[in-house]
Parts: sequence; structure tokens; C-alpha cells
Amino acid sequence: MVGTNPFESAMAQLSKAASFIGKSDPKVNEKLEILKQPQRIINVTIPVRMDNGKIRIFQGYRVQFNNARGPYKGGIRYHHNVSLDEVKALSFWMAMKCAVADLPLGGGKGGIIVDPKTLSVKELERLSRGYARAIADNIGPDKDVPAPDVNTTGQIMGWMIDELIKLQPKKLSKKEEMKLRSTITGKLIKDGGSEGREEATGLGGLFVLQAMLSKMKLTGKKLTVAVQGFGNVGYNIAKFLHENGFTVVAVSDSKGGIYVPEGLSPVLTLECKKKNGTLVGCYCFGSVCDMKKGKQITNEALLELPVDILVPAALESAITKDNAPKIKAKVILEMANGPTTPEADTILYKRGIPVIPDILSNSGGVSVSAFEWEQNLKGQHWSKKAVNAKLKAKMEKAASDIWTTSKNIKTDLRTSAFVVALGRILKAMK
Ligand code: GLU
Repeated sequence: MVGTNPFESAMAQLSKAASFIGKSDPKVNEKLEILKQPQRIINVTIPVRMDNGKIRIFQGYRVQFNNARGPYKGGIRYHHNVSLDEVKALSFWMAMKCAVADLPLGGGKGGIIVDPKTLSVKELERLSRGYARAIADNIGPDKDVPAPDVNTTGQIMGWMIDELIKLQPKKLSKKEEMKLRSTITGKLIKDGGSEGREEATGLGGLFVLQAMLSKMKLTGKKLTVAVQGFGNVGYNIAKFLHENGFTVVAVSDSKGGIYVPEGLSPVLTLECKKKNGTLVGCYCFGSVCDMKKGKQITNEALLELPVDILVPAALESAITKDNAPKIKAKVILEMANGPTTPEADTILYKRGIPVIPDILSNSGGVSVSAFEWEQNLKGQHWSKKAVNAKLKAKMEKAASDIWTTSKNIKTDLRTSAFVVALGRILKAMK
């Protein structure tokens, strides 16, 4: 059934966009056919010595979808629900996303089937180093450039790059080592990371939203927001929205959410969550957390709150044909990858609720990854101000391209984003 399998959703999106593209040209048809499958699927097993002395074998993937515009690019996800079809979908979306942001990169994605919360730090390190060894021959600055995704961090990227350096047969010069470091982005600054990368997805989302709201003539009043997901992306978009005059009334993590009608403080909420180990009770308004200020809600209820802007920032298929009719938000900003199924898209479009699509809204992360790659290759380190200025310009250009296309071809923003991306990818394909 379309909607439950992310790769089927991705292919439904592709075929919808394809119907807007000159299909009478047989060459275009051939290229669209090629884009229905990844160029390469790497399947790895990673044996890890656990703290109890026993070996556990983990299953991992790296899918290299398309490199017509440049090296494959995309994160590595650690999650117990990772599947090959999910990684295929995510790698396809990366190819589209990099084209939307007009980066000289293709699309790839990796994943390991693991719940990282069940591992010790040492086990996590051994798993990450094992995965880096397993895919080492297939990645590199001109081949494939991995990065963080769900449950992976700058620290994990650091272990991976360190492992790649260790694999080198001879000691590298400083210049050679910096080039090798560009193989992985989203690193900590001390390992060659870029200023601004950590919060880039969230900040990019803010820039895209501001650009789109002004096109939609929805600026000027204090808009309310609900954010599903409180990881790197969910937290940062909530923080930037809060700092920029939006009222964030609800956030959630995988266990459930909180609703603070007066508007919550994302920074205090995160501190409280870290201290208590749960979001429940972290009803932080202004400078205090007060049990009376809010209430506990489920993830399902969060999606249906009466807010102006709904931000799904967790996993795929959160908005489906079942809850799409009940959504009350005026605009949806997709910060997760693939949070809306094609059936839900159709319902939302008919209801007049614009969905600002993932491949635009969350492309700030990979954009600053591309800046990190470029800095490493050139042996440079840019200031945060320079990085953020470049990010803002990129997001505004991408938002404007997609808005204009949607007006020209008279369709939804996702299909328009695909049409823009496909135009660029098809041109680059031989
Ligand atoms: N995982 C992020 C994404 O889905 C970032 C990928 C990257 O920086 O390469 O866009």
C-alpha cells in the first residue's frame, strides 16, 4: 500500500512530478526510468565486541542513489526501524534535496539497524568505527560524503573519520589529511567541522519558512507552532522560531509531547528534559518551569493541535490519510524527511493547507555540510557569520525557485520542488 513504505511514497512523488516534465522526449523518459532505482546498494554486516565480551553482528546499509551532479551525499541513521527501503527512499530524497539547494552533490544515505540508547558509549564507538571500515572503500571526497542523521552526532562522525585516517597505509601530510577529512561532514569543529553545522538544519528551516510566509502574505502576526520531534532538528527549529517571534506551544519526543498554550521556552525545556530524563513536567514558560503552565499530550494529538504552523521533525509517515483530515494548522513545514505520505499530501492540498516540502525545508543541514566539505578541500575555516549568510542566501534562492515554479505549473510545493530538482538532475545525466 502506498504510504506505509517510504520508497513507494518516494516513487509516487517522482511519478507525479514526472507528469509535469516533457515526457514526449524518449531521452527524458529513459532518464526518469533510471531514477527509479539507486545506482548502488552496499549491504554490510558489522561485528561488534560488546562490553560483556560477546560478539554481536549488526546490519548496515549505504545506498548511493545518484551522482549525476557530484559525489553522493547524505547522512547515516542509527535506528531500530532502519530498513533497506527506508534508506533507499532517504538516499533518493537526498539526490533531490541537493539539487533543490543547487549543491554540486548527488544523493546517498546510510543506516544501521540499532537502538543506540541500548549501547554503552564504548559499544557505540566500536559500532561506528566498524561501519566506517565496512564502507571505507566506497566513500571519499570525490565518491560519497556521509554525515549525521537521526541518532548520529558530531562525535560519531569524529570516530568514523579517525578510523578512515587509521586505515591509511602511510602517514598523511597535513594537506592530505584535511582532504581526507572532507570525506565526512557534520564533524565537531576540533575534527575539521564547520561553524554553524550543528544548528544548520533548524536555521535553514527558519529561513525557508520566513521566505515562504512572506510569499503567502502570512507575516506580521505572532504565529503559533507545534513541533513533533525534539532531536537536533526539532530542538533547533523550535529554538530559532521562538527567538524570531513565533510562539512554540508544543514539542514532543518519541515518548510523547507537552502542550504549553502560552508558549514554551525551547532552551529551558531541553535543560529540563536532560535533567529529568523526560519532557513530562517540563512546561517551561519565560524563565521557569511550572507544572500548572502546561499538560502532557500524545504525538498524535500534537499533530492535530489548533496552531498556525505544524512542524513534523521526527520520522517518515507521521502525517497519513488518517490524520490529514484532522490537521488544523494553516501551513506545514516538513523538517523530517518524508513525514507526509502521498495520500495525505492529496488531502492537504484539497484542504488548502500548503506543505513546505522536506527537500526544501530541511536542506540547510546538507547545505552547511557542503560548505564544510568545501572548506576542508580548500584548507579553510569560515566564520559562523559567513556560513550563516551563505546559508540564508541559498535557502532564499531555493524557496523562491520553488514558489515561482509552483505558480508557473500550478501545483503543490512538493511537486514543484521535484520539478526544479529533476530539471537540474536530468540535465546533468549523460
Ligand atoms: N541527514 C541530513 C539530511 O537528511 C543531512 C545530510 C548531510 O549533511 O549530508 O538532510
